[in-house]
Amino acid sequence: MTTTDPDCLFCKIVAGEVPAELVGESATAIAFRDIAPKAPVHALVVTREHHPDVSALAASDPALLADLVSLADEVASDLSDGQYRMIFNCGPKAGQTVFHVHAHVLSGTHLAGF
Ligand code: 5GP
Repeated sequence: MTTTDPDCLFCKIVAGEVPAELVGESATAIAFRDIAPKAPVHALVVTREHHPDVSALAASDPALLADLVSLADEVASDLSDGQYRMIFNCGPKAGQTVFHVHAHVLSGTHLAGF
């Protein structure tokens, strides 16, 4: 069953109702460039289904989370050299602002450690 939230920005991007620069897709996820990139390569990888965050997705459908991570890895290889940072912000205190699970894929430069 596919679930969507009509008020969700990333559901609208998945549906093609809000434009985005697509950089990859699979049966279960899509990848597009972040509108405010924090690195030369900054893609967002989102499930086609609406899940609010990575914690909810890990609990409800870990195989779908694995699909999302696989697409993120593929996109990093396609757009850069396959070396990347993957970040899931989970919850407002972690900086999450769009409540549809997404991986940030940052690459294309030497990223400082933390
Ligand atoms: P979060 O802060 O939830 O982890 O990440 C949300 C990301 O979505 C931010 O990096 C932000 O720049 C990006 N973003 C917000 N609105 C849009 C949009 O309309 N299009 C695209 N491509 N990215 C967006």
